[in-house]
Amino acid sequence: MSEFNTKECSTSSSTIRMTKDRVSVDNKRIINNGRTTDANQLVPIKYQWAWHYYLDGCANHWMPSEVSMQRDIEQWRNPKAFTDNERHIIKRNLGFFSTAETLVGNNIVLSIYKLVDNPECRQYLLRQAFEEAIHTHAFQYIVESLSLDEGEIFNMYRETKQIYEKDEFSMSCTQGILDESVDLKTKEGKQKFLNNLVSFYVVTEGIFFYSGFVTMLSFGRQNRMPGTCEQIQYILRDESIHMNFGIELINTIIDENPESWTQEFKEYLLQRIKRAVELEVSYAQECLPQGILGLNVQLLREYVQYIADRRLEKLRLPKQYGSNNPFPWMSEVIDLRKEKNFFESRVTEYQTGGALEW
Ligand code: MN
Ligand code: FE
Repeated sequence: MSEFNTKECSTSSSTIRMTKDRVSVDNKRIINNGRTTDANQLVPIKYQWAWHYYLDGCANHWMPSEVSMQRDIEQWRNPKAFTDNERHIIKRNLGFFSTAETLVGNNIVLSIYKLVDNPECRQYLLRQAFEEAIHTHAFQYIVESLSLDEGEIFNMYRETKQIYEKDEFSMSCTQGILDESVDLKTKEGKQKFLNNLVSFYVVTEGIFFYSGFVTMLSFGRQNRMPGTCEQIQYILRDESIHMNFGIELINTIIDENPESWTQEFKEYLLQRIKRAVELEVSYAQECLPQGILGLNVQLLREYVQYIADRRLEKLRLPKQYGSNNPFPWMSEVIDLRKEKNFFESRVTEYQTGGALEW
C-alpha cells in the first residue's frame, strides 16, 4: 500500500506529505484517486487523449475582439437587410448562447473540477473553462457591437420558456452535485455525477447548441452577419472538442466503475436524452415559427434527431431515431482539418506564436 494513502493527498491541493513513493501510471484513475495517486503531478500521463484535447484546444486559440463586426453592424442597421422573423431568430440564439456558455463554465469550475481529481483531465478542464469564458465574451462582444438591448438578451433565459427549460434541464444537475452529501465511492454518487456529465457534455454542448449553430451559420452561408458567424464557427469547433473530451471522460469513468453502468441507469439516461431532443425541437419551433433560409422545423427536428443518435452511439447506447443528416455542410464546418475557411475569411492562426513582442 502506497504512502499516498491519505484522502487529503489527492483531492486537496493544499496538503502534501513527505514520501519517497512515486506516482505510478497504473494507479491513476479519473475519479477517487485518494488512495492511489497525487492530484498535483501531471506526469506520468495515463490518459493521453485528455492531454491531446488540451493541446488541440490551445492550438485553436482565438479571441472575439480579433473578429471584425463592421459588416454585421452595417447589415443590422439596414432596415431592409433582415425580415422580422430573421431578427427574431438571431436575437433568440444570442439570448440562448449568452448565458448557456456561462453556465457550462460554472458547472466545470464548481462541480466537475472538484470531482475529477486526475491531473491530465484537470489540465483540459482548465483550458475548457477559459474557452467558455471566451465564448461568453464573444456573445457580449456581438451584443455590444450590434447595440442590442443587453438586458433583453441576457435575461432571455429567464423570460423565454423554451430557453428556460433547456437551461433548467442541465442546471438542476449542477445543484445535485454541489450537494456535499454526494459520495463518489457509492454507485448512486457515481451515477449522479455521470448524469451531470451527460447533461452538460452530451446534452447542453452536444444537442442544445445545435439548432442555434445551424440557423446562425445559415446566415453566414449567405454572407450575412459574417463576423458573428465567424465567431460561432470557432465556437462550434471548440464545442466539438469539449463534447469529444466529455464523452471520453464519461466512457472511461464507466469502464473504471462498471458497477455504475446498470440497465436501469442506461434506461434513465436514454429517457433524459429523448426529453432533451423534445426540448431542442420546441426551442427550434419557437425560434422559427415560419421557415427561413431553407430551414424549417421539420428539417431541424431531423437534424437534432440525427445528432442525438450520433451522441448515443458514442455513449454506447442504442440509437433511437434513424434520421438522416439534412445539413451535410455542417460536418465540414466542424472538421478541424479543413484548410479552407467556410466563409472565406481569415483563419485565426495562433500556432505560429509569432505575434508576441517583448
Ligand atoms: Mn462554449
Ligand atoms: Fe463548451
